[in-house]
Amino acid sequence: MSSVTVCARFRPLNSKERRDHGDSPCIQSVDSENFIFKDGKEEESMFSFDRVFYQESLQSDVYDFLARPIVQDVANAISGTIITYGQTGAGKTYSMEGPSILENKDQNKGLLPRVVEGLFECLKLDDETIKYTVKLSMVEIYMEKVRDLLDLSKDNLQIKECKVLGVFVSGVTEISITDAAEALVHLSNGISNRTVGETQMNMESSRSHCAYIFTVQQESVRDTRLKTGKLILVDLAGSEKIEKTGAEGKILEEAKTINKSLSALGNVINALTDDSPGRVNHIPYRDSKITRILRDALGGPSRTALLLCCSPSPSNAAESLAKHIKSTPRG
Ligand code: ADP
Ligand code: MG
Repeated sequence: MSSVTVCARFRPLNSKERRDHGDSPCIQSVDSENFIFKDGKEEESMFSFDRVFYQESLQSDVYDFLARPIVQDVANAISGTIITYGQTGAGKTYSMEGPSILENKDQNKGLLPRVVEGLFECLKLDDETIKYTVKLSMVEIYMEKVRDLLDLSKDNLQIKECKVLGVFVSGVTEISITDAAEALVHLSNGISNRTVGETQMNMESSRSHCAYIFTVQQESVRDTRLKTGKLILVDLAGSEKIEKTGAEGKILEEAKTINKSLSALGNVINALTDDSPGRVNHIPYRDSKITRILRDALGGPSRTALLLCCSPSPSNAAESLAKHIKSTPRG
């Protein structure tokens, strides 16, 4: 059975938000799982998550709570997914990468550098009865087209499925990595290839989903038995409503496509976590590229962590609160 952990993270107010709305955030901490939301207009309401990371939270807090258990599982051939979700500027990429993927200040490092370090720590590399292979692929999904971030000439990759391999991106570049430092060099190259666009929200916003796919294979030297764990980290495209960005033409098309795929992901996650008596067993993976890519990592015996990144500013609050995904954790 898959398990899903849903967390919320509020980044600190930025200088523009402080200037426009003062220093008070629109949320009030209750405890590590609950907060009260107030934007002055609507009634106050309480939201519950498996964990809430407030403004002062550390990158290491986020890693320890939501990623470390998944990394440990992947080292034991149980697949996992870590997803950052939220509107542009809410802190998805900061949570995923840190200020930069090659950040060397330990406290600032994001999930990705911590995940690769943690993964290589968990692998029992001195055990001579197991041969490990760790491979990295990076793809970007822009307008429902899958592009290889490690080889830009591959700009329309197909997602295929077969009994032996499960779901795979056909023809995608897979780089074997032997340690964390090597992984970071490739991650950095791939990240510099991401598509970014400018919206009226006046910041560079990612209009694409980015998936970092680690395949960890363990082969027993004795009987050549193979076990595979897949770890996929996803930095989703901005979840903002279309009106706010003043979108037209191409930008509008992008926003519609993004919203459609985010809804598809929300539907899959809701279906996976629905334990009500009348639940439907069908999980609608086929509705978008991102859910197809995540199929193996989300379904089956696996762990998923979803980090909803939010601005604590009243101007963004309504939008910050899970539009596509239910905000309450399951018991
Ligand atoms: P997104 O990827 O969701 O569009 P970013 O991660 O790029 O948003 O964050 C927007 C800005 O806020 C960046 O300048 C980033 O450095 C800053 N930021 C986000 N989260 C934090 C945080 N937890 N602590 C400090 N700065 C943050
Ligand atoms: Mg981003």
